[in-house]
Amino acid sequence: MPRIEINKDRCKGCLLCVPVCPHDSLEISIALNVYGIHIAAFKIDGICSGCTNCATVCPDAAIEVFKD
Ligand code: SF4
Ligand code: SF4
Repeated sequence: MPRIEINKDRCKGCLLCVPVCPHDSLEISIALNVYGIHIAAFKIDGICSGCTNCATVCPDAAIEVFKD
């Protein structure tokens, strides 16, 4: 099943990735990264189809998509 990993220390919290997920699987996290930024997170009940929209739109290459 496809999945993503978000590099929390690369993410700057711009949230460009949130609206582009066709499954509405991304959200702003409560947790902060080392820079004190609320980063993007994959929802606990999220679904990933591996479309790569989120990784493509991320300006900081903080998202990696795994299709295995
Ligand atoms: S688009 Fe990238 S930098 Fe912006 S919130 Fe999403 S993961 Fe973070
Ligand atoms: S790869 Fe596509 S389906 Fe998976 S989290 Fe990113 S935008 Fe959503």
